[in-house]
Amino acid sequence: MSSNLIVQKFGGTSVGTLEKIQNVARRVKKSRDAGKDVLVVVSAMAGETDKLLAMARELSERPERREIDLLLSSGERISSALLSIALQSLGCPAVALTGRQMGLVTDNIHTRARIKSINADRALDILKRNHVVVCAGFQGINENGDVTTLGRGGSDTSAVALAVALKADRCEIYTDVRGVYTADPRIVPNARKLNMVSFEEMLEMASLGAKVLQIRCVEFANNFNMPLVVRSTFDEEDEGTLVCQENPDMEQPVVSGVMSDKDQSKITIKGVPDQPGIAAKIFNALAEASISVDMIIQNVSAEGHTDISFTLPTTNLQEAMPIMQDKGKEVHAESVSSDSDISKISVVGAGMRSHAGVAARIFSALSNAGINMMMISTSEIRVSCIIDKKGTEQAVRALHDEFKLDQEPQRVSETPTGA
Ligand code: ASP
Ligand code: MG
Repeated sequence: MSSNLIVQKFGGTSVGTLEKIQNVARRVKKSRDAGKDVLVVVSAMAGETDKLLAMARELSERPERREIDLLLSSGERISSALLSIALQSLGCPAVALTGRQMGLVTDNIHTRARIKSINADRALDILKRNHVVVCAGFQGINENGDVTTLGRGGSDTSAVALAVALKADRCEIYTDVRGVYTADPRIVPNARKLNMVSFEEMLEMASLGAKVLQIRCVEFANNFNMPLVVRSTFDEEDEGTLVCQENPDMEQPVVSGVMSDKDQSKITIKGVPDQPGIAAKIFNALAEASISVDMIIQNVSAEGHTDISFTLPTTNLQEAMPIMQDKGKEVHAESVSSDSDISKISVVGAGMRSHAGVAARIFSALSNAGINMMMISTSEIRVSCIIDKKGTEQAVRALHDEFKLDQEPQRVSETPTGA
């Protein structure tokens, strides 16, 4: 396809009512009138997927996942057909397609399928005839021809995959916020919308709980170098946030954002014999239960014994505790305890790679705010701390202030200082 093609994805809140669908139709038509070929991907109308799921659960405690997929995919079919009708009524020729009609083939894992291939011939043909294509997001078919879905929030991934398959210029994700922010504006009122953010930073942010993009969509975009634009459906002036490969034109602040996650808990196993194989036993047991742990610390051994602490999502705590108590007995640990009054505060920024002293600034800012750190972990472009849950908002604000994230970034100097 020509690079004249753009993919525009509209989320559930953007197509939540008929009026909103008309508004989306107007915006899509505007892009087409400006000479673009447009392929639109839509989510189900706001709340629709949850409503359908709740209906299934009223009928059965464990509905078959195959049936759930067929059921949920109908939400996106409705919004795609309605948007296509709205476009046609504005005099803009359009064709709505389901995942199957779009040629989107996935594996067999119902409710969280992965895309295997896309045969975009039909869509290309429709675009060639100068029509807008409106695709139902979130769905495909497996090799048996059964409908599959891509996991919650999966329309983002559909949009990027289609953009890649059709060699679009970029993929625009329209939503109810203006873009990606330096912090949650509900916590930090002067949080700033970022104009640009790198794939790497966005991957960290999405895995730390930024809900604005599904993480798989960012992985996909990064793997195929497909630029994403996150922007508001309702604020036409704002150009949103460009998510793309790191490049020399990028304003590269040391820190791009501060995130917090209150849904974290900590398990501590005290007085474990300091011998090879103990940690393996403990963490294998969790891996077998498909529980992923995040930060792990082990104290310096005293008299042949040590303490191990790790964090995990609070939703997994109830399942993990009995497993850990069993293992604790097995390895003759002194005690096993848990704490769910914690939260994880993270600072993300690609500029950290070339700037020394970031961790020190984080620690000073938190200590000046009287906040104690219980655990610390770092990656190349992230520093995370576990703190008392009570201090969450205060910590986020202190770090946002420390790195002056409310202000437009200065370009970083050309000479790296080394980490
Ligand atoms: N409607 C689906 C969901 O709510 C997919 C999506 O909106 O991306 O998860
Ligand atoms: Mg979404």
